[in-house]
Amino acid sequence: MPDQPMSNATDHHALAPATRLVGLGRPARAPGAPAGPGIELSSTYVAGEGPTYGRFSNRTWESLERVLGDLEGGAALSFASGMAAISACVDLVPHGGVMVLPQHVYNGSSSLVDQLAEAGRLTARRVDPADTAATVAALDGADMIWLESPTNPMLEVADLPTILAAAGQRGVVSVVDNTFNTPLLARPLELGADVVVHSVTKYLAGHSDVVLGATVTGDDDLLARLRNHRTLHGAIPGPHEAWLALRGMRTLHLRMERACANAAELATRLAEHDAVARVRYPGLGAIVCLEPTGGQPAAEHIEQSVELWLPATSLGGVESSLERRRRHAGEPESVPDALVRLSVGVEDVDDLWRDLDAALRSFSA
Ligand SMILES: *Cc1c(COP(=O)(O)O)cnc(C)c1O
Repeated sequence: MPDQPMSNATDHHALAPATRLVGLGRPARAPGAPAGPGIELSSTYVAGEGPTYGRFSNRTWESLERVLGDLEGGAALSFASGMAAISACVDLVPHGGVMVLPQHVYNGSSSLVDQLAEAGRLTARRVDPADTAATVAALDGADMIWLESPTNPMLEVADLPTILAAAGQRGVVSVVDNTFNTPLLARPLELGADVVVHSVTKYLAGHSDVVLGATVTGDDDLLARLRNHRTLHGAIPGPHEAWLALRGMRTLHLRMERACANAAELATRLAEHDAVARVRYPGLGAIVCLEPTGGQPAAEHIEQSVELWLPATSLGGVESSLERRRRHAGEPESVPDALVRLSVGVEDVDDLWRDLDAALRSFSA
C-alpha cells in the first residue's frame, strides 16, 4: 500500500471526510514522485517480498481501498462490480442457512438470493425493513440480515441502529448496501453493521463510465473470507477501472453536496405539482421517486419526452437520469406501475426543473 502524505498529520481522523477523499491513497511524497497512483498493469511480479500475482493484489486497487475503507471506517476490498461484491457477501451464509432481506431491495441482490433459495442453497425471509419489530422478529434463527436504507426504489427507511444491535446480539451477520448513501451520508459500520457493500459504479465513481464494487468490514475474519472469495472466484476489478473510480471519488463530496441540494429542491417543487400524485423522498440523498397523476401512460410519456434528463437505468452519475421502474420485468408488483425513479445529478436545478415540468405538463391522457 502506498504511503500516505497525510500520515505526518498528528491524527488524520481529525481531518474532515472532504480532505481525506482528496488526500488519501496517494504515493509517498518525495521529490519527483507522481501526485497520484499509477495504473498498475501487471499480472506478474518478481519473486521475493511483496506482490506475487495480479489476481491476489494490485496497488491501484489498494489506493482506492485505502480511501473507501477510511471513509467507511473499516478495511475495503474492491470487486469487479457491485454484484461481485454482493455475491461474496451472500456467500458468507452457511449452506442451508437463513437470510433475512427486504421485500424491496436492489433487483440484482433480489434475483441472486431467489435463485440461491430455489437451488436449496439458503432460505430467504422477506421483511419490510421499515417495520422494525417484524424485522427484529425475523432475526431469530437467521444467519444473515441484508439491509438497504433507503430501499430501492420504494425509499423505505430502516431503523438501522436498532436492527443492527438486535442482529449483533443474536450473532446474525449484518450487511448494509450503502450505495444510495455513500459514507458521506451514512456509516453503517459505526452503527453496528458487520459489512458494508457498495456498487462503486454509482455515486462513488460518479461519472457513469465504470462498473466496480466494494465491501468494507471492521472484522478480520470476515475480511479474510471476503478476500478469499474474491481471489478464488476471480471477482477482481481491472486496474484501469479502479483508477477511474478513485479519480471519481476525489470529488464525491462536491458532487453529493450539489446532487442532494438539487434533489431536495426538486422534491419540494414536485410535491406541489398538479400532475404529480405522490413524491417519495427520504429527506436525504439524491434519489427521488414520483408518481404522475396520469399513471403508467404519463410515466412513459415522461421517459420519452425529457430532453435533458437521460432516460436510463442506473444512478449516481453527474448527469440526471430517470426511468419507470416497472418497465423491468423482474420489478416486484408492489412497486407502483407509474413510479418514476429520478437520479438527480449536479446540473443547474432550474434547468432540470424546466425539463421535468415540461414533460409532466405535456401529457394528455
Ligand atoms: C447498481 C446497484 C447494485 C449493483 O451494482 P453493479 O455495480 O451494477 O454490479 C447494487 N446495489 C445497489 C443499491 C445498486 O444501485
